[in-house]
This record gives sequence, C-alpha cells and structure tokens, in this order.
Amino acid sequence: MQEFLQAIVAGAPSAELEAIPLPSHFRAAYLRREDAKIFDGMASKDKDPRRTIKIGEIPTPEIAPDEVFVAVMASSINFNTVWSSIFEPLSTFSFLDRLGRSGSLWDQRHSQPFHVLGSDGSGVVVRVGSAVRNWKVGDKVTLHCNYVDDQEPTAHDDSMLASHQRIWGFETNYGGLAELAVVRANQLMPKPAHLTWEEAACNALTNSTSYRMLVSRNGANMKQGDVVLIWGATGGLGGYAVQYVLNGGGIPVGVVSSPEKADLLRQMGCEAVIDRRAQGYKFWKDEHTQDEAEWRRFGKDIRDLVGEDPDIVFEHPGRETMGASVFVAKRGGTVVTCAATSGYMIEYDNRHLWMKLKSIKSSHFANYKEAWDANRLLGKGMIQPILSKTFDLEHVADACNSVRLNEHEGKIGVLCLAPEENMGVDDPEMRERVGEDKITMFKRFAAGRASAAVKGK
Ligand code: NAP
Repeated sequence: MQEFLQAIVAGAPSAELEAIPLPSHFRAAYLRREDAKIFDGMASKDKDPRRTIKIGEIPTPEIAPDEVFVAVMASSINFNTVWSSIFEPLSTFSFLDRLGRSGSLWDQRHSQPFHVLGSDGSGVVVRVGSAVRNWKVGDKVTLHCNYVDDQEPTAHDDSMLASHQRIWGFETNYGGLAELAVVRANQLMPKPAHLTWEEAACNALTNSTSYRMLVSRNGANMKQGDVVLIWGATGGLGGYAVQYVLNGGGIPVGVVSSPEKADLLRQMGCEAVIDRRAQGYKFWKDEHTQDEAEWRRFGKDIRDLVGEDPDIVFEHPGRETMGASVFVAKRGGTVVTCAATSGYMIEYDNRHLWMKLKSIKSSHFANYKEAWDANRLLGKGMIQPILSKTFDLEHVADACNSVRLNEHEGKIGVLCLAPEENMGVDDPEMRERVGEDKITMFKRFAAGRASAAVKGK
C-alpha cells in the first residue's frame, strides 16, 4: 500500500493509480473469531478492547461489480467500535455469518475468522467494479456506512427501511480501520476539499445520524425556535446536534459531565448548559426504581435556563436517562432516540407520554440522501468536524478504550495510510474562509486540557 500512498501524496493521475498492483494483503484493525467468548461472565465495565483488537495483515478480497476499493487515508472510532470490541450486545461474527448465509458469493466473503472494523473513512478510490458509474479511480472521498442493496425494492423509499440494511464495518467486514476498504459505490461522497484526511474521516457516521434525528423529516423535523435538549452535547452525536440546532434557529440545552466540557459547549455557542455530574441527578433510586422527584428537579433546571420545556429531546444514553427524557419533553414534544449506551431495556412512565401527547421517534443512521446532505454542509463549512484527537492505526485499541471510558470529546480520528496529521487539504482558501478557529475547536480544546493536566501533575 506504500506505493499507493506515495502516488496519492504526489497527486498521481488516475491511470497511474490504476497501474499500481493491489497488494495481496493489507494492514487493518480487526477482531478474531476465536476471541468472541473472551469476556464471558465479566461485567461490561471490565471488558477492555485492548485485549481483543489486533493489528495485522488481512488478505485482500475481490470486489463485486458495484463496489470499489478505497485506499483509506484516515478513519475514526465510533461507539460501534467499542460494542464490537467487547462483543456486546452480540458478537459481530454473528452478523457476518448471517450476511454470509444470505446467498451470493459476494456476501459469503464477509464471513471470515477475522472482522475488520471501522464505519468511517476518507481516502482515494483505487479500483472500481465494472458496474460503478459515478465514481472513478483517483476520486477523493468520504465513506458513509449505510450498506444497502440498491436492487432491493424496499431500499427505494427510505433506504434505512431496506430489508437487508446493515452498517458497514459493524455488520459487514472490510471496514474503514484499515489501509484498504471495500465499499459499495452507493457509500461514496466527495471529500470536503478544505479538510485534512482525519478531519474529513471523522464525521459521516455521527454527523449523518444527528442530521436525520433533528433535521430530516424522517426524524424530529426541528423548526426555528424549538428548544432541544441534547444529552452528551460534546460527544460524537451531540457535538453535531448542537451545531444543527444553532444553524436551524433552535435553542439548544446541552448536557455534559464536567466543567471543561461545559466550557467547550459555551465556546460552540450553546448558552444553556447543564453539568449533570455537578447537579448530581439520581434518576434511579436503585436498579429497579426511578425517582420522579429527580426528573422534576432536572425539568426545573431546564426551565430555569430557557423558560420552557424541550420541544425535542435528543436521546441516546438509554436506560439511565429515558424516564427523565420522556418526563421533561414539552406537551406534544418528541423524544428522538437512536441508541441506548447505558442499557436498552428502557422504562418510562407512560402516563406522562400519553396524557401530554408526547411521541418517541426512533432513528438509525441515515439514508444516502441524508448522509449526502450532511456531508454537503461540511463541504460548505456550515458544519464543522468535531475531531479532538488522532491516533495511528497501531493504536486503535487505545483509542477505542478511551471512547469506552468516556475520556474524549467529539470524535477520535485514526491515521490509516496518512503518515501524519494535517495532510490532504486541497482548498486552503476555503479553509481560511471557514476559519481555523472553527474547524479545530475540539482539537485545540483537547490539547489545552492535556497540557493543563500535565502542568497540574
Ligand atoms: P460518545 O462520543 O461516547 O458520546 C456520548 C456522550 O453521551 C458521552 O460523551 C456522555 O457525555 C453522554 N453519556 C454517556 N453515558 C451517559 C449516561 N449514562 N447518562 C447521560 N449521558 C451519558 O458516543 P456517540 O458517538 O455520541 O454515540 C452515543 C451512542 O449512540 C452510542 O451508544 C452509539 O453506539 C450510538 N449511536 C447510534 C447510531 C445509530 O445510527 N443508531 C449512530 C451513532 C451512535 P457526558 O459524559 O459529557 O454527559
């Protein structure tokens, strides 16, 4: 892959890239099937991704006619990398095997003794299958993770409703945390020219998810003036949600868990901030009983900040917060949920839902059009990447562990082929127009926090 890297860095034309032979193997971050039971009987908090994520050589597969090979310059860690690495709630090998059983030879390729992880990426197309029309070798791209068969009729209304919809790099093999990725042509989007490889790689999964949850008519369909309560407002999803609410004329109320994150949130322009740790909310009295008085206290804190209840609650922590989220939503309001980090068996008081005509709206990733629209906003400098730190491929397990422990802000990037950070900017004038201060806000914040920690020692 080093030959591809040199050619990409030198700006080689398409014909030159096509002439470089594909390697028989490539480097990747992967799980091993034989480790799938390694954590059996352990508490979730003790499951350490550094025991399961391996870095090594993977045999190069063939691509289907509707697929491309991408030389991956950078990728990112998502929470699904954490779920995969600790085999929760299921081993991802069960997803790969189900895909493998579904019939075609191309599907069978995914069921392997290894699982190459990663659901984000930026890079350069180095081979196209014979049925690929809109992309060519040499195109600089970012990758979204909605893996659908466009010959499937159910994929042609909202492709998230396609009967065999999957998340690439989680429910399929050959993901983005590697030097080479296999993706369908309908996962490709143009790389924003003013961003570095790692800045371009960190967005697609969470940016598109937040876009669908808030902006799309498939989600909560936010309107001007809406009060939006955002859990984890400086996290992977929340950092984009805050931007969408501000861009769309809404009023964000951001919840975070430290004074430093509260500062970052204010720098982003979110004036209503709640530090959940400082407030010490205890929504659960014990494992089985929730405390309505704590929901009320939380609701009062929101009203004290913005004078009213949230029209929309942007929900993903799940079991720990869902009772509170349903309670604090405005009469007629919407709780939009895409996840359950703290547990998926949810409890809320249904009386508060039906008597006040509230709705719970489910959402999952984004269809191609939604991902494209979210990527377009990045390309126009209207949404900023929330990259805070970048690791190299050799240290994916450390990066994943840091996300598991909630030590990060925004997104963690991973350099795959790119030898160092800050490469890949093709439009420096555009970058200057958008503003370095905006583009690198999370990165500068994380660097400042790290240096303060060193001084404090
Ligand atoms: P992330 O970067 O870890 O951010 C999540 C934030 O949520 C954390 O930083 C934390 O912020 C907050 N949080 C975590 N546990 C909490 C709890 N018990 N109570 C209140 N707040 C809590 O992760 P992410 O990328 O935003 O993803 C969040 C979840 O959504 C994950 O479970 C992920 O798998 C899922 N997800 C689903 C989709 C989909 O398409 N369905 C897409 C993306 C992500 P503070 O500590 O600052 O409060």
